[in-house]
Amino acid sequence: MHCGAISLEKLARQFGTPLYVYSADQILERLRIFQEAFGDRDTLVCYAVKANSALAILALLAAHGAGFDIVSGGELERVLAAAPDAAARVVFSGVGKTPAEMDFALESGILEFNVESEAELHLLADRARRLKRKARFALRVNPDVFAETHPYISTGLREHKFGIDIRRALAIYKSVAGNRWLEPHGISVHIGSQIRSADPFGAALERVYKLVRQLDRAGIPLQSIDAGGGLGIDYHGGSFDAAAKIHEYAQALDEALAGYAGRLLIEPGRFIVAQAGALVARVLHVKRNGKKTFVITDAAMNDLIRPALYQAHHEIVPVRPRAGKPRVVDVVGPVCESGDFFARDRNLAPVVPGDLIALLDAGAYGMAQSSNYNTRPRPAEVLVEGRKARLIRRRETIADLLAPEILTSEK
Ligand SMILES: *Cc1c(COP(=O)(O)O)cnc(C)c1O
Repeated sequence: MHCGAISLEKLARQFGTPLYVYSADQILERLRIFQEAFGDRDTLVCYAVKANSALAILALLAAHGAGFDIVSGGELERVLAAAPDAAARVVFSGVGKTPAEMDFALESGILEFNVESEAELHLLADRARRLKRKARFALRVNPDVFAETHPYISTGLREHKFGIDIRRALAIYKSVAGNRWLEPHGISVHIGSQIRSADPFGAALERVYKLVRQLDRAGIPLQSIDAGGGLGIDYHGGSFDAAAKIHEYAQALDEALAGYAGRLLIEPGRFIVAQAGALVARVLHVKRNGKKTFVITDAAMNDLIRPALYQAHHEIVPVRPRAGKPRVVDVVGPVCESGDFFARDRNLAPVVPGDLIALLDAGAYGMAQSSNYNTRPRPAEVLVEGRKARLIRRRETIADLLAPEILTSEK
């Protein structure tokens, strides 16, 4: 099994396991398809940093024209470290921005704040006044559109914590129209993640565009519509045509925006990086308990929590297949939790201790959601560019983990 031209066996030998491996070529290919999918429409692809925030990946995307959707001051630090010139292509989302994060973003000159409540808008105006820097803002509206996905990653309904009820947005834009520190710049929406159908995106944007026209008539013209992220991939492998999916998505947006001449922002995260990444792990033991067979790997839920958190499915394949019939097994990690599994009752080709397996489509919300639970150092990360593989994050050491701790009180 290979990533680009490079064998996963070789990478595992060189960098150890568990190991995240990403294909730069696939990441850039997906970015390009998004960038070109809207034809002549003025479009900015703002990659959602939280999906995978590796500096090398941010730098790669920035070098190819991507903007960024961030949800914390820390993510802004990352973007600026990776691509100091990208600040003007950053949109800042999130329901709980602190004054310090707002100040940092104002001073950095980001493109737009996606504001999620009236209270946040007033705080933003206050920070902008203190710093004497006008804040460009978009209200993140909640279009009350139902999108079929896991309940933890559905965000577009009125009862979710995200956004502002779309029926209240017009009044809020009007209420701050005279504020010299606030510039109504756009409007944004994000209805959830891992949404497989294009229809809810179109439905949400129709409602948003209607509001944009109302604002226009009210003398509040906006520069941009931010359609958010959330386009889902196929975690079950097979013949997934990413380009066709992106085009279907773009068409749904375009139809909803017929007649709209302003700028379009989109915030894909998962779709750009998920399928470009795999988590490579080594089989430690194969153990039978009662009727069940457990394949225990050196990767665990702290390295990739999606199966435990969302009952998510990842295809698992031996890196070098052996002859023999597949067996029904649970693939689990060494962490002391019964929730520490990658797959249950899965048909897996035969493996023995020492074999390598790859958990596929792990490039998004994998390393980004990793932790040190059970005092486990996080994996190394490797980026494959053409015929070259490059370490982009060294494996953590136990010393890294202990460094912030204070054992004795200083007198
Ligand atoms: C998480 C998030 C995204 C990205 O979602 P994906 O499903 O990874 O495309 C985009 N915008 C906002 C506001 C988000 O919170």
